[in-house]
Amino acid sequence: MRGLQELRGRFRGALLRPGEEGYDETRRVWNGAIDRRPALIARCAGADDVAVAVRFAREHDLLVSVRGGGHAVAGHGVVDGGLMIDLSSMKAVRVDPGARTARAAGGVLLGELDRATQRFGLAAPSGIVSHTGIGGLTLGGGLGHTMRKFGLTVDNLRSVDLVTADGEPLHVDAWTEPELFWGLRGGGGNFGIATAFEYRLHPVGPVLLCGPIFWPLADAPEVLRVLRDYAPQAPDELGMVLFARLAPPGPLVPPEHYGRPVLGLTLTWAGDPATGQRAIAPLRRAGRPIADHVRPLPYLFLQSMVDGGNQHGMHWYWRSQRVPELTDEVIDVVCGLTDTITSPLSYTAGFVMGGTAGQVDPEATAVGERGNGFELSIVAGWPPPDPGGDRHTAWVRQGWTALRPWSTGVYSHFISDEGAAGVEAAYGGRLKRLTALKDRYDPANLFRMNANIRPTAILRPGIRQA
Ligand SMILES: Cc1cc2nc3c(=O)[nH]c(=O)nc-3n(C[C@H](O)[C@H](O)[C@H](O)COP(=O)(O)OP(=O)(O)OC[C@H]3O[C@@H](n4cnc5c(N)ncnc54)[C@H](O)[C@@H]3O)c2cc1C
Repeated sequence: MRGLQELRGRFRGALLRPGEEGYDETRRVWNGAIDRRPALIARCAGADDVAVAVRFAREHDLLVSVRGGGHAVAGHGVVDGGLMIDLSSMKAVRVDPGARTARAAGGVLLGELDRATQRFGLAAPSGIVSHTGIGGLTLGGGLGHTMRKFGLTVDNLRSVDLVTADGEPLHVDAWTEPELFWGLRGGGGNFGIATAFEYRLHPVGPVLLCGPIFWPLADAPEVLRVLRDYAPQAPDELGMVLFARLAPPGPLVPPEHYGRPVLGLTLTWAGDPATGQRAIAPLRRAGRPIADHVRPLPYLFLQSMVDGGNQHGMHWYWRSQRVPELTDEVIDVVCGLTDTITSPLSYTAGFVMGGTAGQVDPEATAVGERGNGFELSIVAGWPPPDPGGDRHTAWVRQGWTALRPWSTGVYSHFISDEGAAGVEAAYGGRLKRLTALKDRYDPANLFRMNANIRPTAILRPGIRQA
């Protein structure tokens, strides 16, 4: 490869070519269905390496992918034939308990950030699977168990250290670069590579009232109607995430329900536990639960509770719709999907939006509207040798199409292969403002392996693969 020798002299981390030790492990991402082979992997040791890698890609017209935690279902973190800029060795986390802030490097995972902040009884709101990268998650918004109390991850973002498409470092916050800071809070990896994030922290845990309740699918219509009526007036402290799937064998449900369709609701109370017990009582009274695990549990347990159900290396496919209400028709779709599920790894999940996150002005960040409503994701997972992948993806598409009449959009992180239509659905009226930012910060679309906001003029259309 041209220029590689010279690059080796300037780069502190590892540069991996096909066949070299570590290449195959590093090119793997969470979704085992993605099998791409970069011409070169730049495993960065720090922000200076990121800048060197970006400049190298520009000089050699390489298609670039950026890997944080590797969780993008479409495999955006890895590229065929181009340069994979891998941040997964960039792990520094520094917590300032007095100021209640944390600074974390671009390759940190949610669990790593949580473990560092929980040492001081603090947390930054984030997502619900601990092996997700803070990089991708933060730049898209960040939905999680405590967002109804503390806001989305981006609502708690104070600043970002970025390497721009020119390979230059840029500190971005609300005062120095307000427009770019707006775009980074929801616009994904379109404007540069974040080498560090600074978050505002909140007192959380180390133990809080939380856990899942399970019902048989037969009770799901009744429970979902109770949830529909309760959610819009629920206290901000109450986080609610629903899921519908085949019950996995294990301690969560009685053995007679193993492998049978169930509805689950994970509740999180970010406040005084006694008040929380009263607040969740109406949901507990719905239907006839087969298991109720809501109790004081460690925050770190809550944050990793569904890690095992979202294993690396399985084949995954998903689509999502934001619905303003759980109408009877939407409830029918969710129940019907669970009845016809094609794999024990598959599920439908729903974040209940609103609360503090929903009170943020939709214009304040690129995430847009996050008021009352439900982000419903239909997720298919199956083990790699299963040759019948099509029936799993067909199950997802069928559910997604059935929900479409009630959809008002989608969270950018939960689109997969919808292409430009998905980006349009995710950003709607904000797309024009995001495009203006893209034109300014990445007019050649160097950062295109993402939910891509296309610049109006591609100045260098001939970006080629190595
Ligand atoms: C099992 C699972 C659970 C999830 N749960 C949640 C959840 O609870 N809440 C939620 O909001 N989302 C959730 N997501 C979605 C997740 O936030 C996105 O897939 C996100 O892109 C993952 O980030 P990553 O760094 O792990 O991914 P990667 O695949 O490494 O990166 C995805 C893209 O993000 C960009 N990117 C990543 N890091 C950086 C960086 N440092 N600088 C610039 N760009 C960067 C790049 O464009 C990259 O291509 C979940 C995903 C999975 C697979």
